[in-house]
Amino acid sequence: MTAVLILWAAVLWPIATPVPNQSHELVLIDNISIVDVDQGEVIEGSSILIREGQIVTLGAKPTGSEFVVDGSGRYAIPGMFDMHTHSLKLSPVLFHPLYVASGVTAVRDMGGCIDGDDSWVACAQEKREWTRKVEEGTHIGPRYDQVTSLAINGGSEIPSGLAPALGAGTSEGARLRVVHDQKRGIDFLKTYNNIPRDAYFALANAVKQTNLYLAGHIPTSVTAIEAANAGQRSFEHGMVLILDCYPDIDEIRNADDFFQAYTDEARMRMVTEHDAARCSRIHNAMRRNQVALVPTHTTRKLDAYAANESYRSDSRLRYIPDLLRRMWLGDADSMAKRGSAESYQAIYELGIAQTGVAHRAGVTVLAGTDSPDSFAFPGLSLADELNHLVAAGLSPLDALRSATREPAKFLGLEGKAGVIRSGARADIVLLNSNPLSEIDAVRDVHTVVLAGVVYDREDLKELRSTVEKNASHLSLSPKLVWQLLRSPIMRRQFAD
Ligand SMILES: [Zn+2]
Repeated sequence: MTAVLILWAAVLWPIATPVPNQSHELVLIDNISIVDVDQGEVIEGSSILIREGQIVTLGAKPTGSEFVVDGSGRYAIPGMFDMHTHSLKLSPVLFHPLYVASGVTAVRDMGGCIDGDDSWVACAQEKREWTRKVEEGTHIGPRYDQVTSLAINGGSEIPSGLAPALGAGTSEGARLRVVHDQKRGIDFLKTYNNIPRDAYFALANAVKQTNLYLAGHIPTSVTAIEAANAGQRSFEHGMVLILDCYPDIDEIRNADDFFQAYTDEARMRMVTEHDAARCSRIHNAMRRNQVALVPTHTTRKLDAYAANESYRSDSRLRYIPDLLRRMWLGDADSMAKRGSAESYQAIYELGIAQTGVAHRAGVTVLAGTDSPDSFAFPGLSLADELNHLVAAGLSPLDALRSATREPAKFLGLEGKAGVIRSGARADIVLLNSNPLSEIDAVRDVHTVVLAGVVYDREDLKELRSTVEKNASHLSLSPKLVWQLLRSPIMRRQFAD
């Protein structure tokens, strides 16, 4: 009985949510070097005037009525987007402060719900609520400019009590699903691996009659070119270009179990028999249809580094709650057993190289991490991914664009976000050095302005330490377990 009471107390025990700083009507960031991501140049000795969360003018002089931030020696970049994340109910106390402290002021969340509420996954309504609060200065977290559906996977993912047809296992189900999510006010539908071919095309046709669109994985039943021609707007994970550019891909696609077929030998063949001409046709289809690639190389790094001791003891693990850390390490353990590090390393490196080829072929590349998937640290790992993009051959400017201007364009926010100019929202990150010379500059954040509210170096330190404390709080694991066990969405995932 006592144990039950202690557990119950832990589940209900409140966890610290960081309190936003006071907002000022006028803020002037003075003596600042502005990184113009459009022109690809640095405007030195300038200033940024902000009124009520919006950039008003650049180059204004102080008049005495502004709250002044001294920008001497710093470089201002637009607040960054992480274009592939997942959010939990507890994101505000575990992840949101890390995003902001890392200069990530917006995320494209690739997880969602299908109906009402969930105890583990954050649903559309709360993401909208968080975003509204960020705008009014009462919450510290990234904005969620658009919200997605529960990943559509053919039906096995649909929680009990709801019609499995909503998983788009058939064309009819696909049409029902589009109506269902349109009614809920969802912005886009996330596609996943197991949608049958007919249902996928029915889904693609049905969304064309709405203001929704498809984004996500390419189901194994269709090719990348077919998905691009059908209007899917983003392909997640660079792995698509490795699979689809391999001439014998159908052997793996048609196998009963992907992991049974995805052997060391198959991986090495994918590398040695990689067909550049095939890839080039895919790039053309992507460019023509304006399909963005979100390669999330951080996820392939896990495969290659699963047994690497220094990778597994990353000092940033101190920000990750014990339960999640165990899940990450468990994931790494099973990855390490699945095959040789060499074959996974070869796939990881080919993926990076292929992102460079796609970029040079004119495909839009967007930075995304898949946080908090294993070893993708919320906020902090975006810098890792930008490094991957530079390793792929993108210039530091193009890597920075993949997290600023390009995501804003993708989300229909051109000129309103992802740039520092008058009329854009005042999400601004001050760095200690010039990111156009060295992309690692994004790791050294001095100040973050979020919807016009200023967080200086000390505030950002405080945000990180709040997360560190929350992550190790005794009540956290019981809370997470309780939420996980009660989640209808997660119950389906574990049943798979
Ligand atoms: Zn994901």
